Amino acid sequence: FLALRREDPEIAEVLLGELARQRGDLQLIAGENFASPAVLAALGSTLANKYAEGYPGRRYFGGCAEADRAEQLAVGRALALFGAEHANVQPHSGTAANLAVYAALLGPGETILAMSLPHGGHLTHGSRVNFSGRWFHAVAYGVREGDERIDYEQVRDLARAHRPRLIVCGASGYPRVVDFAAFRRIADEVGAYLMVDAAHFAGLVAGDATASPVPFADVVTATTHKVLRGPRGGLILCREEFAERIDRAVFPFSQGGPHMHAVAAKAVALREAGTPAYRAYARRVVANAQALAQGLQAEGLRPVTGGTDTHMALLDLRGIGVSGRDAERRCERAGITLNKNAIPFDPAKPMIASGIRVGTAAVTTQGMTETDMKEIALLLGRAVREDDPAVLGEVRAAVGELVATHPAYPRR
Ligand code: PLP
Repeated sequence: FLALRREDPEIAEVLLGELARQRGDLQLIAGENFASPAVLAALGSTLANKYAEGYPGRRYFGGCAEADRAEQLAVGRALALFGAEHANVQPHSGTAANLAVYAALLGPGETILAMSLPHGGHLTHGSRVNFSGRWFHAVAYGVREGDERIDYEQVRDLARAHRPRLIVCGASGYPRVVDFAAFRRIADEVGAYLMVDAAHFAGLVAGDATASPVPFADVVTATTHKVLRGPRGGLILCREEFAERIDRAVFPFSQGGPHMHAVAAKAVALREAGTPAYRAYARRVVANAQALAQGLQAEGLRPVTGGTDTHMALLDLRGIGVSGRDAERRCERAGITLNKNAIPFDPAKPMIASGIRVGTAAVTTQGMTETDMKEIALLLGRAVREDDPAVLGEVRAAVGELVATHPAYPRR
């Protein structure tokens, strides 16, 4: 860092500013976390200089001995942690992982059945503004209006009617466990492949805090930077029979040189995720999310589906008459970072939205507990209801005290 400050004081200032922001505010974005200093060290290493197109033992460049070791460690750890038959650790992101799987399993224009974006699905699950909706025929399932849970009857009816080549489950804004066995049965009934997009909850699977999709899915994709607490990146797990197709769909089909610094950082995170301390963290993430959802319910914010089984909660703000957009802005002024989010059957436009989404991975990494979640719920409830700068200032001061008692990246 001293070298950076000397060479480029402007960027050094940005990094210090971002560190202060991450330390000084409450980080409640469901897909964010604080990667360990060891993960960050691997990311900022000389492996960033290395070209290593190909796979260990069969590269298109010389000098790959250390790159091979890093990738073999990452793959071996992913296989051991998730009990999968094959792993590809090269995808640059969750989106890149999904693109590779579609490329491996589908021809252009073939049908995918996945969760609709407004009900919690991801852009890569068939949205028209994404390759997945442009290059494939996307059919969407959703949740029931009554209990806001996935409508498995609808999934089955749509599968029988449209005969998709691929069914996708796992989402960005669905706080409940997904019934992978039910999806498997439906996929088998119509002869479809099943992909589970575990981008959000792979870190809970790794820590045994939720059921694993690996025994049910043909392919599982994940991000490594959310609950899993690694570097920004993607990961694909699959059965052996798909290994070659998946590897070729990542490289050379959709990517060039792997980011070996990120691959090494994934190896570090996967090692960390195998420890008892990590398993305790993963369970606490869920307990904290449940405590936070309950606390917010007491503040008049309605948890969609009535609560959560995971690291995230989706809150319907219509009961307090505040839009998601206003809530996000007020929280930001109060030092609470979160995002507005559409709720199922949302009457508001996506840029306004009737809800917010919160997640507990980062605050749990900081060491916060269920007692802290109760305090966060009070502060958040106060912030979203108020547009008064004095009140938001008071909340910001209380947030500052709370995070100071559980510092992210504590000074040694
Ligand atoms: N899949 C799901 C379900 C996600 O929630 C996300 C990201 O939020 C992704 C895929 C894409 O991950 P990335 O942002 O790394 O491309």
